[in-house]
Amino acid sequence: DGKIPHTFVIFGASGDLAKKKIYPTLWWLYRDDLLPKPTKFCGYARSKLTVSSLKTQCLPYMKLQTHEQKKYEEFWALNEYVAGSYDGRTGFELLNQQLELMENKNKANRIFYLALPPSVFEEVTVNIKQICMSTCGWNRVIVEKPFGRDDASSQALSDHLAGLFQEDQLYRIDHYLGKEMVQNLMTIRFGNKILSSTWNRENIASVLITFKEPFGTQGRGGYFDEFGIIRDVMQNHLLQILSLVAMEKPVSCHPDDIRDEKVKVLKSIQALTLDDMVLGQYLGDPKGATDDARTGYLEDPTVSNDSTTPTYALGVLKINNERWQGVPFILRCGKALNERKAEVRIQYQDVPGDIFEGSTKRNELVIRVQPGEALYFKMMTKSPGITFDIEETELDLTYEHRYKDSYLPDAYERLILDVFCGSQMHFVRSDELREAWRIFTPILHKIERERVQPITYQYGSRGPKQADRKCEENNFKYSGSYKWHGGKPA
Ligand code: NAP
Ligand code: NAP
Repeated sequence: DGKIPHTFVIFGASGDLAKKKIYPTLWWLYRDDLLPKPTKFCGYARSKLTVSSLKTQCLPYMKLQTHEQKKYEEFWALNEYVAGSYDGRTGFELLNQQLELMENKNKANRIFYLALPPSVFEEVTVNIKQICMSTCGWNRVIVEKPFGRDDASSQALSDHLAGLFQEDQLYRIDHYLGKEMVQNLMTIRFGNKILSSTWNRENIASVLITFKEPFGTQGRGGYFDEFGIIRDVMQNHLLQILSLVAMEKPVSCHPDDIRDEKVKVLKSIQALTLDDMVLGQYLGDPKGATDDARTGYLEDPTVSNDSTTPTYALGVLKINNERWQGVPFILRCGKALNERKAEVRIQYQDVPGDIFEGSTKRNELVIRVQPGEALYFKMMTKSPGITFDIEETELDLTYEHRYKDSYLPDAYERLILDVFCGSQMHFVRSDELREAWRIFTPILHKIERERVQPITYQYGSRGPKQADRKCEENNFKYSGSYKWHGGKPA
């Protein structure tokens, strides 16, 4: 865009997401000279803040190094803040005047980031459209989940946004799409003959996609309780990963070619049913080391004490197409578990025509998204030495070792930069969202209508035992015999 100035507007600048993620990300992008020049930033919220008070709020999250002080001051000098309401016109008129002033009334491109509760989405977007659009430059709008809470509310939001903006102006963030190993899925799959030719029902037994968090609600479960783990993690982050693992090869790497394939594979998935799920809710661990660990979900004072909201969920999805029929895709996610982890585990079938007296174990390709990016392939080998025993081992690509000096940017850094560049590859298109809600809405409604009782599990455990049984029933085999000798992952 040459020398056209860019203005980045943060709605909800006084909030949690703004101080913990958005301002820090903008600072890192500025620090690393990745933003087009000139770019200026303007916060907007009802709170009567100043740039200086914002600066103080953000400091703990900025990872500021002493030698960066000068550049840091330069960054904040490019910031303005306007206080105003979300419903009236006046605040937005003031904001627009401020933006014009920052742009010296020149042609400019504007990005609007909605870091706001969904209750004010509609009025804010209407006001942006009527009052704050750049008249001679592009306008892009970034929205955060939740994108509704079921098919109908999500469709209403999509229709509302579609009435104001073109789809190519809308950037729906699913920050999992900004993670290194999620972005790597396309390369792993389509850049390796050995994988692309085995990536099908003839070779793969099951696919396990896991998200585990080692902490509970920390006394702030009120927001979570309205949504639950299925909406919070499974319907968006895990399903996005699934679509990248399962989609057909896109015609090209063009964002719409990729998103066309993601939509296509989602369309082949039937809506989830209760028979294919395990739901859990955590209990406190009386011997836990922290308050959080000792406090069960229902004991969180911000959660009603008869809540049936799941904090753990396993769901088995079936893809009805030629590549995947009969291969279970098991999605698992939970809070208050034994570890922090997000990974994709592709389990291959047993070797046919066994000659090793049943001692071969299944190959597994594991793509670890976090913590510590890694890709490893569990395989059989002859035990070294004077023996013909066989054992499990691995081919291992641990990023920390192989790519010691590479800087892996945070998901938000990549995604915000994509918005400047106009690349929608890693953002959710409205038809993807529609398919995602189609798969999950019936089960969410049923769980709520019938108040389906989740199974209790203890804080710090691996989740309900029934989940392991469900994996076993769905062609995932765990032997417990694999030993990793490489030390702790990063
Ligand atoms: P937040 O702190 O609760 O809200 C952001 C700002 O919105 C507040 O500072 C407040 O500003 C205004 N606000 C809050 N409640 C309001 C209400 N009832 N009516 C009108 N204004 C209200 O939210 P957040 O955590 O920053 O999250 C922003 C958005 O990102 C939400 O949609 C959230 O779901 C999503 N999100 C957040 C995170 C995260 O890590 N925090 C992660 C993923 C997605 P003023 O009072 O100054 O106007
Ligand atoms: P594993 O211990 O054989 O576990 C494989 C899978 O089985 C996991 O998904 C696990 O689920 C599940 N499982 C565990 N206990 C189970 C049980 N009792 N019943 C049913 N399923 C069960 O292999 P791994 O997890 O791939 O590797 C073991 C350790 O080595 C891990 O800590 C891994 O990070 C480490 N490792 C690291 C690298 C590296 O850093 N490059 C490479 C290889 C291995 P859960 O996810 O619920 O536990």
